[in-house]
Amino acid sequence: MHPNLIALQNHLHPSPLTQVKSSWLRAHKVELWLKRDDLIHPIISGNKWRKLKYILAHALAQNSHTLISMGGAWSNHLHALAYVGQLLNLHTRAFVRGEAPAQLSPTLQDIMRWNMQLTFTIRHDYQLLRNYKHWQALPGWQTGQYWLPEGGALPLALAGVQEMTNEIDIPYDYLCVACGTGTTLAGIIANQRAEKQVIGFSALKDGAFLSADVQQMLTEYRHAINWHINSDYHFGGFAKTNAVLQQFMHEFMQETQIVLDPVYTGKMCFGIYDLIRQGYFQAGDRIIAVHTGGLQGSRPLS
Ligand SMILES: *Cc1c(COP(=O)(O)O)cnc(C)c1O
Repeated sequence: MHPNLIALQNHLHPSPLTQVKSSWLRAHKVELWLKRDDLIHPIISGNKWRKLKYILAHALAQNSHTLISMGGAWSNHLHALAYVGQLLNLHTRAFVRGEAPAQLSPTLQDIMRWNMQLTFTIRHDYQLLRNYKHWQALPGWQTGQYWLPEGGALPLALAGVQEMTNEIDIPYDYLCVACGTGTTLAGIIANQRAEKQVIGFSALKDGAFLSADVQQMLTEYRHAINWHINSDYHFGGFAKTNAVLQQFMHEFMQETQIVLDPVYTGKMCFGIYDLIRQGYFQAGDRIIAVHTGGLQGSRPLS
């Protein structure tokens, strides 16, 4: 790996696996553990580091000078990418979904401060960009540029996610993760053993699209394992929230001292608790959920 990337990696914190303890969980006879990828780094947090690691290694090995990607105005992916670009002396550019807002989100304020060059892109054009899935596929691509599809959904992202699953050193029955593009889920599935169950919790309304995308990312892998995407806990769609979700996250925080984000991990944990309540799991099951970070995205406009 490139020395700059090794230097960055040396500054990251380990991701502990911690048990969520409560009388409620005990009464329901299941164990819940969190893989705390949110603790890796305050900005390059969670699955964003996992997904970017080998992409960045490849980009540096190609002598790329510019990283280009796409995302929404609150994107954790763009936030991590802009920050890491600065650290690695790479230019960064992004297509941001929608028209330029009157008031920039804290995410956009940060990434502009980190010199990411933004192009606001109307929904139709943004949608078209989703068709370019290879690092050289962006129309007009030039030598030295490196294109990352939305969420960093390149095959190389899967290798970093596999390192996360390899760090889990206790037996378990279920592994749960929140899904946006499904890239992290694909990385988890690619590295699973057959007896485990993997559940992706969709942050989007349309889980069927997501399943197809995950399948596509897994074409090179034999994945005879049990996985599915649960789309019952999107709370009305991407980044939509309500008082029930907020209340759940608040109580979870009070009980565990662990902060969840309302877009991904809050909905996943709500879903896990709801499935436990419904008796979906069996007595004695051990569930591991990945805390994929993302806390920067819940800062209010200021
Ligand atoms: C980006 C993100 C996800 C979704 O990851 P995908 O690989 O796009 O499915 C989940 N959780 C958090 C906190 C994220 O920031």
